[in-house]
Amino acid sequence: MTETITKLAKNHTLSKQEYISLINCNDKESLEYLRQKAEKQRQDIFGRDIYMRGLIEFTNYCKNDCLYCGIRRSNKKAQRYRLTKEEILDCCKNGYDLGFRTFVLQGGEDAYYTDDIIVETVREIKSQFPDCAVTLSIGEKPKESYKRYFDAGADRYLLRHETASAEHYSLLHPKDLSPENRMECLKNLKEIGFQTGCGFMVGSPYQTVENLAEDLIFIDKFKPHMVGIGPFIPHKDTPFRNEKSGTLEMTLKLLAIIRLILPKVMLPSTTALGTINPKGREMGILWGANVVMPNLSPTTVRKKYMLYDNKICTGDEAAECRFCMQKRMESIGYKVVVSRGDYPDLQK
Ligand code: SAH
Repeated sequence: MTETITKLAKNHTLSKQEYISLINCNDKESLEYLRQKAEKQRQDIFGRDIYMRGLIEFTNYCKNDCLYCGIRRSNKKAQRYRLTKEEILDCCKNGYDLGFRTFVLQGGEDAYYTDDIIVETVREIKSQFPDCAVTLSIGEKPKESYKRYFDAGADRYLLRHETASAEHYSLLHPKDLSPENRMECLKNLKEIGFQTGCGFMVGSPYQTVENLAEDLIFIDKFKPHMVGIGPFIPHKDTPFRNEKSGTLEMTLKLLAIIRLILPKVMLPSTTALGTINPKGREMGILWGANVVMPNLSPTTVRKKYMLYDNKICTGDEAAECRFCMQKRMESIGYKVVVSRGDYPDLQK
């Protein structure tokens, strides 16, 4: 396996069969070699800097019914909320004072926020915080809408592809959501000029090793600026309530592989990883991740943005999350930096 890993670190690509054998590899020494290669790759480009993104979960209304997600439309138990533009701006102000220079506006697909409202909100954030980047993560929209957000000043867009296999996609989503449209959206985002992020859940129901290899091949081809991955975690009020979570080991392995495929990619160590293991986010960094996303949402709504069970940090103030994260990164010899943290070739 060492040969395959060396080859990946050098060529940044493997065949499907080689990805499959690497994903299946459970040999401790080989995996430690993979980890070291990924950590070195990341350090060569980013040193020991870790970029922070302030996550603002501004609505949990959603018109979609994704089978895995706790805020799916048919979950009648979810207590729904929306933040006003003023509340979103307050989160940014708080975040700015804490050293955040990227704000990620994430939410369900909520028609209440028309394109006009999104545009107005992005404009206002960019005018009050001109040295900050704005990332949107609000799902599938027509190309014209994406273009309007971009022209209003949004810098980046996160839209996980969820799975590169059309067949697997149909097992995770209702019929009215199509894998073709999701992929089309990603293509449009990149064409418009967004720093674009795709990604997937690790260990989602019905996922095979072959599916994971297909996800890696997609990432390899699409060349996103950001990749978000985290373990699937069941939510008690969804059809997947009795399914198993994705594992720490598999998520770490995939983080390292993705770092080697795309050396410069912005790769978060996610909250879901911190949820399945108390040191999950630290381990993610040691396996090649270089971004953390502490929560800036008001504590009053935190518990309501429950995509999966037992989500961490739902009781903490933004400042607590910020300093907790700093301590966690310092404990492993890394430092959080006050910076927009753009993709290396696109730094402003
Ligand atoms: N509505 C937006 C934002 C989705 S929430 C969009 O469509 O892009 C962000 C991500 O959370 C999703 O893309 C999904 O990969 C992840 N997620 C949802 N439910 C999850 C669960 N049960 N376990 C782990 N991750 C989950």
